[in-house]
Amino acid sequence: CGIVGYIGDKKSIDVLTRGLEKLEYRGYDSAGIAVVNKDEMKIVKCKGRLKNLEENLEEISIDSHVGIGHTRWATHGEPSDVNSHPHVNHKGNIAVVHNGIIENYLEIKEELKKSGYSFVSETDTEVIPYLIDMYYDGDLKKAVMKAIKKLKGAFALGVLSLDEKDKLIAVRKDSPLIIGLGEGENFIASDIPAVIDWTKDIYILENGEMAEITKDHVSIMDFEGNPIQKKVYKVTWDI
Ligand code: GLU
Repeated sequence: CGIVGYIGDKKSIDVLTRGLEKLEYRGYDSAGIAVVNKDEMKIVKCKGRLKNLEENLEEISIDSHVGIGHTRWATHGEPSDVNSHPHVNHKGNIAVVHNGIIENYLEIKEELKKSGYSFVSETDTEVIPYLIDMYYDGDLKKAVMKAIKKLKGAFALGVLSLDEKDKLIAVRKDSPLIIGLGEGENFIASDIPAVIDWTKDIYILENGEMAEITKDHVSIMDFEGNPIQKKVYKVTWDI
């Protein structure tokens, strides 16, 4: 299972699929991406190998410079197209990729159903875009902070929203996540090999850290929003 994310001037699809290939060693049963294509959130996801995803991507023309990608190792809900990540809210403007397990998802799902939300997948992950949707009032980072306060379990997250399409939000708790620092571009990934073709400057997120990432800037904070100063880790090996 793996997460990748990209924001910058390159074609996001190319970076995301290359990155996911580099994470194949982690194992997976499905794969998918969400990118902002002009003013639309475009999701392509399917059960099976990355090759299937890449074939589906070839059929559509996408001009995008921001996106998130995922390889899934199913824990809740069988491997299927619908259960593949990214997962979105009902309006389709907030997309989330998740590695890990949300232990209290059934409880949250019941609460959300009472508030009128309905679900399409069997995953534990799907509650996350809905929580972010419920808490969103013009600040994606704050909505994500409120949403993750509700979550118990393990979660590395990549979040993309059409309303703030100049940024990615990354979150780490008990599942790995790193940030690759480029010039005029930045990356997120589960592991360093996914970004090493493009940058050797890395922030390694610790548990309880999250990041707001634009093409020119990365700010790291704890789950309360307090800023955290991080050292850049320089990769000295090649693969
Ligand atoms: N628990 C999530 C699911 O089953 C994420 C699994 C993963 O880490 O890939 O969809």
